[in-house]
Amino acid sequence: MEKTKIGWIGLGNMGIPMVSQLIKAAHYVTVYNRSKDKADFVKNAGAFTAPTPKELLNNSDIIFVMVSDDEAINQIFKGEEGLFAGDIAGKIIVNMSTVSPGISKDVAAACKKNEAFYLDAPVSGSVKQAETGTLVIMVGGDEIVFEKIKPVLEKLGKLVMLIGGNGAGNYAKLAINALLALYAQGLAETIVFANQNGVETEGLLELINNAAIGNLFTTIKGDAILQNNFKPAFALKHIVKDLGLAKAEGLSSPLANAAFGSFQNAEAELGEEDIIAIIKTLK
Ligand code: NAP
Repeated sequence: MEKTKIGWIGLGNMGIPMVSQLIKAAHYVTVYNRSKDKADFVKNAGAFTAPTPKELLNNSDIIFVMVSDDEAINQIFKGEEGLFAGDIAGKIIVNMSTVSPGISKDVAAACKKNEAFYLDAPVSGSVKQAETGTLVIMVGGDEIVFEKIKPVLEKLGKLVMLIGGNGAGNYAKLAINALLALYAQGLAETIVFANQNGVETEGLLELINNAAIGNLFTTIKGDAILQNNFKPAFALKHIVKDLGLAKAEGLSSPLANAAFGSFQNAEAELGEEDIIAIIKTLK
């Protein structure tokens, strides 16, 4: 697997640290990103660049896609210079973006028709886990294809799990992100309530993080709140997207509905900031 030629599409907050893991693992990597300036960082690390997804195919056996949403997926696959404009026969395409199960199934069918293989493989974890290759990766697709690329996915994640057929990875991811939204909203509400009653954030977080309810999320996001650092690791606009996708798949529970409303209301002002910036709307 070491000599596999890898194509990587999408150099956002997650794409850059993820592809950096594969470059470090000595794969031959070619990258494409819509905004060209972002490629400089990985170019300096030893990757090649392609001007379009279509041209990236010339140098890649396995193509990873890590972009924002369904619209971006449509551009990458079906755009004039997209993957479907080239010869994809025999290629394995791994879509790690958080997108709808529907678009995954649609793209998977088109890949199959063109003798290519498609896996949905969204990730749980954020920039820190991407930087250390400790993401949790949930995969939908064919088991034989999964086994073939598992060694590469293991460079990116500490847990790589096949969930079911195409779209199953996306369903698992939407379920997990519903919980993420509740954690973020809940942590923010808890801190604001405590502050209103004279309990300082730092002490409260120490209590939470030493109690059974503390976890990696409360630690990382608690630190961000303390440092007033809302630079996006996971942009708030992405949780609005994910809750919208989950709702379209039937998620309509009391907490999820309330969290969706809360994040939707915050999006215009705070969409480009981190998810935990939701605390600003409560203060
Ligand atoms: P990001 O920083 O917003 O980057 C988005 C990437 O998608 C960029 O490369 C962007 O290109 C590209 N893109 C957006 N619209 C496009 C279009 N219409 N055509 C072509 N390319 C387009 O996002 P991210 O945080 O890396 O997240 C990527 C995916 O992983 C999302 O689905 C997100 O929900 C998911 N995810 C994120 C995290 C996290 O903590 N950040 C964790 C787990 C999963 P430009 O550079 O040209 O804008």
